[in-house]
Amino acid sequence: MFLIFGLRTSVSRSGVVSAVCRNCGNHAAQVITRRATRLSLFFVPLIPIRTRYVQQCSFCGVEYGVSKEQARRLPVG
Ligand SMILES: [Zn+2]
Repeated sequence: MFLIFGLRTSVSRSGVVSAVCRNCGNHAAQVITRRATRLSLFFVPLIPIRTRYVQQCSFCGVEYGVSKEQARRLPVG
């Protein structure tokens, strides 16, 4: 009997906010994405392992992780 385990990461865009970038210091659109990694069995995602929120600056392109609370607090329009 074979068991096929895997990890799957689904990326969903949470929103775009206008904020000052930590990296370049410009006030630019920041794209917030949510990356949920789940353990899958037979290619069916089952158990959530971790969820990360990533903010990407549209000006310089840098990506950095933000906490769930930070991602929620951002005034996503
Ligand atoms: Zn930037």
